[in-house]
Parts: sequence; C-alpha cells; structure tokens
Amino acid sequence: MITSPPLLVPSVATLPEPAGSVEPIADIAFGSALTALTYYRGRVALAAILKALEIGRGDEVVVQAFTCVAVPEGVSAAGAVPVYADIEADGLNMCPASLETRLSPNTRAIVVQHTFGVPANLSRITEIARRAGVPIIEDCCHAFGSTYRQQPLGSFGIASFYSFEWGKPVVAGLGGAAIANDRKLHEKLVEQYADYQQPSWGKRLQLEVQYRAFSALYRPQWYWQVRDAFHRLSRAGAAAGNFHEQSPHEPSPEFSLRMSAHMARRARSEARRLATIRSQALEVTDRYRRSIRYGQHPVLPSSSTVCYARYPLRVPCKQQLLASAREQRIELADWYRTAVHPLDGEQLRTVHYRVGSCPHAETRASEIVSLPTNGRVDAAFVDRAVRFLNEQQ
Ligand SMILES: *Cc1c(COP(=O)(O)O)cnc(C)c1O
Repeated sequence: MITSPPLLVPSVATLPEPAGSVEPIADIAFGSALTALTYYRGRVALAAILKALEIGRGDEVVVQAFTCVAVPEGVSAAGAVPVYADIEADGLNMCPASLETRLSPNTRAIVVQHTFGVPANLSRITEIARRAGVPIIEDCCHAFGSTYRQQPLGSFGIASFYSFEWGKPVVAGLGGAAIANDRKLHEKLVEQYADYQQPSWGKRLQLEVQYRAFSALYRPQWYWQVRDAFHRLSRAGAAAGNFHEQSPHEPSPEFSLRMSAHMARRARSEARRLATIRSQALEVTDRYRRSIRYGQHPVLPSSSTVCYARYPLRVPCKQQLLASAREQRIELADWYRTAVHPLDGEQLRTVHYRVGSCPHAETRASEIVSLPTNGRVDAAFVDRAVRFLNEQQ
C-alpha cells in the first residue's frame, strides 16, 4: 500500500525516465520537466490514480457536487463509491466544513476540483486531509496555470489529473493525463500502464474526424450550432459524448484505454503553447471582469492568480439568458447544469448523488453561465458578449 503523505512541492523532476512504452508529456501544468501518463480521457486518468493507490471496493472517495459526471464515473470505475461534499455558499469549489461531515472510516481519497480554474480552499482542505490521513487528488481539468499562495495548482495533492477535451484549456480532441507527485505512486502508475491499450483503429478515426470538424467549425458565434450538431451525433452514437449509461458492476471498456499516440503528440505540442494559451485567456478575462456589469463575478481566494478555462458569471435568470444568447449567437455555456452535470432526476442516483444533499451546488447549477476564454475569442466577440450582458436587467 502506498502511504506516503501528500507532498507539498512536486518532486517529479527527480523521477526516473519513463519506460519506453510510456508517452511522456512535459510542461502540461508547471512548465517544468514533469512526466505525465496519458489516458483515453480525464476520468480514465482519475481511475488509474485511484487503482494505483489501491483504492477500490468498499472505499469511499469524497468529491464535490457541482461537478461533471466524469468524476464519479472515474471513482466508480475504480470500484469505489463517490461521496459528495457541498460547495462553498458563494463559491464554485468544495466547502471545507461540508468535507469534514462527509469523512468516514472508509474515506480513502479526496478529489479537489478547481472549477473553471479557480483554486479551491487548499489551505483548509489540505489541513483536513492531513488530519484524516487521506490523500488529495487534484482535478486540474480546468486548471492549467492558476496558482494558490504562489504555488501551481496540481502540486498540492499526491497526484493530479487533466483533460484535453473541447472546452478545456489544452485541446487535443479527447484525452487525459495523470501526474503523480510521489515517486512510489508514479512507479505504480507506470507499472499499471502496460495494461492499457491504444484505442481501436475505428475509434481513433472517429476521434480524428471529430477533432478536425470541431477545429474547422468552432467559433464563439457558431457555438450553439456546433453544439447542437455534436449532441445529435452523440445521441446517434456517431460521436464520443460525455456520458454513457454504464452497468454499476462493469466499467466501460474505455477505462482500459490510453490516449492514442497521435492525440498524445497533439496534446504535447499544444501544451508547448501553454504560455500563449494562458496570456490569451488572461487578456480576455480581464476585459470580461472590467466591462461586464451584469450578474455576479467570481469570488477568488486571497493570494491566488487565476487562469480561467471559462469565465463564470452568476446570473438571476439563467434559462432565459441562455435562450436569448442562443438567439443572438453569443457563446454562453450552461455547465454545470445540475449537481452532477449533465445528469438529472433518476440518473443522479446511478452516480450515488442524493437530490437535496448539496444545496449550494444545486443552487449554483441554476445560476452559473460561462463565457469562452480560448484563442478563437476575438475583440469583436468580447464586445458583443459584453454589450449583450450589459443590456440585460
Ligand atoms: C472535463 C472534466 C473532467 C474529465 O473529463 P473527461 O471527459 O473524462 O476527459 C473531469 N473533471 C472535470 C471537472 C471536468 O470538467
């Protein structure tokens, strides 16, 4: 069993070179020579980390509500049960007090999500985790460049995971990565990696077509059309969607897949543009922050710098606003639409979420819309989006 405490400073620079079969990705998160292992999706990377920590049947993993179904799916694929902590009354991230009430003798890990790139309350959460003797795994799927107390996100837990899907800061099509901040855990991940296969030829082709279509079509002003087309294809089984009804006893075969070598190369070369991706995002969010006088801007933890994956706004009439944004061709995303996006009603039970158990998360899901911060956002779009929002009352 791996019992080393979570390291505060990544020691990954001292890790051995990965074995030949491992696809290393440098500079995903910190701009240093870190070694990441790539997987079919972010959730697959999370499941791999849990397995490497020997977390499985009978174990509980605390996650936050106001999350994406990918997180509980990753926990369940490892055989463990997700337990939901609520988010902070005015925030987007895990509430430390709620976390404390969710710990039990069966708690084996805490997944700390940095929603939209906003750092979680790490000083209190790491303290609680340390007292409970439970490791932290950071969900950095939205966080490629934010810092907390001058320290990069992804370096606070025993490991972190990333996603390269559309909507994430580094886009490669579909894919994920895991980075261990602990040598033994890293070695275990490398050892396990031999069991992971490349996606089939057909799947790789499908993902490539999907990636190219998206890159060709996506502009913030065409967001709604592209999104509708994608949802139609996904329902017809012709595109890789976000959620598949899965048997609680048999995780989807995707959980034994790597990221294709081709996509991993693309992720690596995109990650090399990280400085540019970050400065574009910072420039755009700075304009949103200064110019938008509608809704409530995000509240940030002190001594943090934030690089937003998307820029979230809390608005009073979310559904109405989304409908008029669609009409006026303004990209405005609705995630997270529910406490465990995109699940609703009965589906929430399949991921162990009990409706009413995380009231702040459920409220936030009815309030948050988000604006794009990616490289395709130009000054004209920002102007239109700002004008559109400022005209609301
Ligand atoms: C996108 C995302 C993931 C991982 O998604 P995959 O589709 O599995 O790559 C995990 N957590 C959060 C918060 C996300 O937004």
